Amino acid sequence: MSGCGEWRASAGTVQDIDLLIEARWIIPVEPYATVLEDHAIAIDGGVIVALLPQALARERFAARKLEVLDHHVLTPGLINLHTHAAMTLLRGCGDDLPLMQWLTTRIWPIENALMGEEFVLAGSRLACSEMLRGGVTCFSDMYFFPDATARAVQEYGMRACLGIPVLEFPSAWAADANAYLTRGLACRDRLLNEPRLSFSLAPHAPYTVADATFGRITTLAEQLDLPIHLHLHETEDEIREDIERHQVRPIARLERLGLLSPRLIAVHCVHLNAHEIELFARHGVTIAHCPSSNLKLASGIAPITEALAAGIAIGIGTDGAASNNRLDLLCEMRLAALLAKGRSGDATSYPAHKVIESATLSAARALLLDAHIGSLVAGKSADITAFDVSAHDLRPCFDVASHLVFVIGREAVSDVWIQGNSVVQKRQIVQDAARQAEAEGASALSLWQNRVKIQIGSLS
Ligand SMILES: [Zn+2]
Repeated sequence: MSGCGEWRASAGTVQDIDLLIEARWIIPVEPYATVLEDHAIAIDGGVIVALLPQALARERFAARKLEVLDHHVLTPGLINLHTHAAMTLLRGCGDDLPLMQWLTTRIWPIENALMGEEFVLAGSRLACSEMLRGGVTCFSDMYFFPDATARAVQEYGMRACLGIPVLEFPSAWAADANAYLTRGLACRDRLLNEPRLSFSLAPHAPYTVADATFGRITTLAEQLDLPIHLHLHETEDEIREDIERHQVRPIARLERLGLLSPRLIAVHCVHLNAHEIELFARHGVTIAHCPSSNLKLASGIAPITEALAAGIAIGIGTDGAASNNRLDLLCEMRLAALLAKGRSGDATSYPAHKVIESATLSAARALLLDAHIGSLVAGKSADITAFDVSAHDLRPCFDVASHLVFVIGREAVSDVWIQGNSVVQKRQIVQDAARQAEAEGASALSLWQNRVKIQIGSLS
């Protein structure tokens, strides 16, 4: 049974709070590998006040609202560490192609023809809807027109770390690297006081960004205290090209430029040698592992077991819907665990609790947001995902962490809170602004689908 209603303590000194959520299991992520049974989370003003046994919670707190989730497991809201939200509009429009061919013959020509604020808003709305229903409360984005993505994020009541995109070549967003930075930083200035939005500097990749621009980005990241979000060592071709142009591998080039640091979120890292793994560990770089995208574009399988053994933090990303083709973080978590075991020949590699930590606390640290999100502890924001494990095909359940990684799919996400606000309830998006965005998004979708279809036709 699950239900909600008003509840008040009958006697004694009790603290008034906004919300008490009781759950069969809670995985707070901190301390590592902890599973709390029959506990409750007390929430007031959007912040977690305490985690404690349910009976004790009812003695200590008078909640204006009580949620009883007695067949559910609660985790911190999932964090998608790498995506291009608006690319949902390009889902499945260039399949079965290698990366450079996929980019140059499909994605970039279509983007050049259609890119603009409306395209990004429509695609980002679709992405927010998909991710939120899948238990994702925060995502790290990299795309043009981040202010349009910001609008969708705010409509859905989500969090995002919006990448300020940087490339050397022109797009509808900007003419050159300086213009990308200027326009992106102006967007950040406008949204600086929005509590659920943060920013990163997002140079696209070593093959699309020049040394001088990387130097400027390193300085800006230090000055403004921002993470750097970068595609890196995704394919062997990318490494070969950099050796031809710069006489070194991309990671060695970035080391020379001072880019390796705890600020760097290195996306993909499919091809790393032992020296590069040691460098990442020494400099505190986080890897954003995107296993489906790496498999679909035949880039390879990242050496996650070796990276974990060296002490490197791993986050998990979906990449964009054009190369995945879904924004399903639970799917990526399962695949990440299976691939780490299969590639290393070690079944103990990447255990379930480590995978859950990757999709929550490690990602929050990489985004410099771990003081506020990433684990369920007193003082942090109440960003929570509830999974209902009562369905017949999910039973029995002996180890709920293993269940979360290997059994549960995103259809088990029942409820989601962000800053203590209910944003998904019984699998339905509930906030008015989000429902309005869903309605507007649905009517815009057929229009964009037709436009993309015409572009595909003109390219083939
Ligand atoms: Zn990407």
